[in-house]
Amino acid sequence: MEKLKDKIASLSSTPFSRQTIACLLNDLYFAPCENKDALKEFLFEQARKKRDQYYSRKVFLRGLIEFTNYCQNDCFYCGIRHSNKKNRRYRLSCEQILDCCAIGYKNGLRTFVLQGGEDLYFSPQRLEAIIRAIKERYPDCALTLSVGEREKDVYERWFKAGADRFLLRHETATKWHYEKLHPQTMSFSHRLNCLRTLKKIGYQAGAGMMLGSPQQDISCLVEDFAFLSAFRPAMVGMGPFIPQKDTPFAQEKAGSVELTLICLALVRLLLPPVLLPATTALATLSKDGTIKGLDCGANVIMPNITPPAQRCLYTLYDNKKITDGESVEGLQKLKEMLHRAGYEAVMSRGDSKMTYSIDGTV
Ligand code: SAH
Repeated sequence: MEKLKDKIASLSSTPFSRQTIACLLNDLYFAPCENKDALKEFLFEQARKKRDQYYSRKVFLRGLIEFTNYCQNDCFYCGIRHSNKKNRRYRLSCEQILDCCAIGYKNGLRTFVLQGGEDLYFSPQRLEAIIRAIKERYPDCALTLSVGEREKDVYERWFKAGADRFLLRHETATKWHYEKLHPQTMSFSHRLNCLRTLKKIGYQAGAGMMLGSPQQDISCLVEDFAFLSAFRPAMVGMGPFIPQKDTPFAQEKAGSVELTLICLALVRLLLPPVLLPATTALATLSKDGTIKGLDCGANVIMPNITPPAQRCLYTLYDNKKITDGESVEGLQKLKEMLHRAGYEAVMSRGDSKMTYSIDGTV
């Protein structure tokens, strides 16, 4: 037990070791271990302390705009996959997106996240025009894109137009596992190359994975942590896998809250300055998932500012829990919940404290 505690306490000051992470994951979660609860509590406490050291008790809020649920891809886990014919599709117009930003801005939000399926209707030019329009009206806000894989020149174009950050979860850092989660038309190496390109261009890049996705085992997680440690993303988006009823994974088991919390804490210790959201998926599986996530080292929440008529159609998984950022009351409720738990909602841009050379080497 004391040895394991030492391992946890020195995670942020020692070089990454696959062996150490495997040993910790094993004792914290995968294998029976009599001191599991005490060990977990120690891990969470260390992660909280590390987060406090870098960001104190401040939690950054981001306005999430789910602007299209059209997608050309067919990820086996995802409810907006191309082959799902049961899903009613929508796209927000540029005006509708600007309306979302206006509401978010009025409510105090200073980061907007444009997330959507890989929808080629949003051509390089079209999305560029939207980025420019947002940055022209809200030069004091940060803009994050989460629109999947594109070519280098397109990413460059959007960066020049003013996009600051880009979220592209790697989903899993193990090739065979990636191929279990995606059809043959999708490529593991292309996704990783996209991440390297984004970082090289100068985006604050976000990677991340689902926890408890089908066939994920301890070795997959060790690879994920190895990848994150080497890549040093500015942000890490991680949430539990949750089945969606109209996908090939409809019958699969959801990931666990416990594993999600353990991984959040480990990421905070491995990459102390990282921006780490307590995700919607975590809040979906656990009533107080958001606070639990923060108590394990997370420091970002993404309230939803998509118009209600569309946000219920953005169904990546079943029973999505919404943190409402569109209404003043929704945000007020969130701020009060944070305050009660000893956190402070911060409305500034909230840039990452992660520093890295931007040559994109991994
Ligand atoms: N098209 C964009 C955005 C994808 S949606 C892209 O490719 O990056 C954002 C994230 O939701 C995905 O990266 C995935 O990790 C997560 N997600 C999708 N389906 C999910 C499910 N069934 N359960 C949990 N998370 C899911």
